[in-house]
Amino acid sequence: MSDTTPTSGSGSILIKGARVIDPLSGLDATRDVLVRDGRVVAIEDSISDTAERVIDAAGKVLAPGLIDPHVHLRDPGQTHKEDIASGTLAAVAGGFTSVCCMPNTSPCLDTPEIVEYIKAKADREGHCRVFSVAAATQGRKGERLAEIELCDQAGAVGFSDDGDVVESASMMRTVLQTVKHTGKAFMQHCQELTLTQGATMHAGSVSMKLGERGWPREAEELIIERDIRLNRSIKCRYHIQHMSSGNSVELVARAQAEGIPVTAEASPHHLHLTHKAIETHGTMAKMNPPLREQHDVDALRKGVADGIITILATDHAPHHIDEKRNPLCDAPFGIIGLESAFSLYHKALVEPGHIDLPKLIELMTINPAKLCNLDECGIGSISVGGVADLTLIDPEHEWTLGNEHLVGKSSNTPFLGWDLGARPVMTIVGGQVRWEA
Ligand SMILES: [Zn+2]
Repeated sequence: MSDTTPTSGSGSILIKGARVIDPLSGLDATRDVLVRDGRVVAIEDSISDTAERVIDAAGKVLAPGLIDPHVHLRDPGQTHKEDIASGTLAAVAGGFTSVCCMPNTSPCLDTPEIVEYIKAKADREGHCRVFSVAAATQGRKGERLAEIELCDQAGAVGFSDDGDVVESASMMRTVLQTVKHTGKAFMQHCQELTLTQGATMHAGSVSMKLGERGWPREAEELIIERDIRLNRSIKCRYHIQHMSSGNSVELVARAQAEGIPVTAEASPHHLHLTHKAIETHGTMAKMNPPLREQHDVDALRKGVADGIITILATDHAPHHIDEKRNPLCDAPFGIIGLESAFSLYHKALVEPGHIDLPKLIELMTINPAKLCNLDECGIGSISVGGVADLTLIDPEHEWTLGNEHLVGKSSNTPFLGWDLGARPVMTIVGGQVRWEA
């Protein structure tokens, strides 16, 4: 599924007695919700209509379908790691109804033809909606602009060279100016390259101890500072992906206070783990950007609590187990995230009291929808007449993440064995139940 057209012939579903939380409208109350032909047709105190399926949702939370604005589906080019079918299956298993895929594919997602390829394949094989984030430069090489306007017209929902930074300041200025005309956001992978050559992990006590080349925080912060400076007069919508450094939160807060359009996202691993995880999990804790220190984790959590970081994104990065079996220096960066994301965010942010459940849902629905302009077609909220993308959450669920929960092609995660709580238990995309725990 790739667009906002409801799936036809999906019948009717009556969800009874859930706590319905819709951050866009501010609704937070016990309601019955009736879904028919892919749309929400009624939200009332009590609905007695007959429906093909009636779901007793007492004690559950009904949220807009979760949206992940940062996933790697590895399709085309690396489908031994993941493809659109397996990646979207992992998505619905995690409660996601929409995902935005990154352009570091082979060939690179930098032409309208590849945007069309992903759309068509997602329509045929996808379990949820798939939207493309197209490359800003050709081949993500940072040398020549990609076909930004044509990709925009083909349906790209944002632009990024993710996996790589736009290194040249001059090219970055051109990218910001060009993307601004599309009304979409540019999403930066913030990595100053000369500081990170050959680095495998955060530059700190653990890298010293292990004799690994360290990756300092400044590699992220320098790019953020540069881009904010460039964007001060351009005012393109600029988004920072997978923020890892606590200092970055301050940079973003300052820019936001100045009125520069900057948003930022945090990932489950950066909200939970530190560089020490490399000692226990080896390559399963090798990330780009790397896991840092406890005060960074604390600052990122506070950044979410203070409303500086307004979007949560997994950076779902599947790799084959053989690739992760390589020595630290040769293994690829990244971990999967879709199946466990909601529960990990809940554990990092809601359980310690940094934010409440409605805020968590906002950070995973309407906020990423706005980042990618999906709110313009009704995605990211629950309303009568709106698209029936819904996620039913059991806030009292208790579970331990195991291999049986990982339904994508890859299982590279250091969170196996973690005891988790609140969890999505049903995922409805375009009025169809696409996943039930
Ligand atoms: Zn990245």
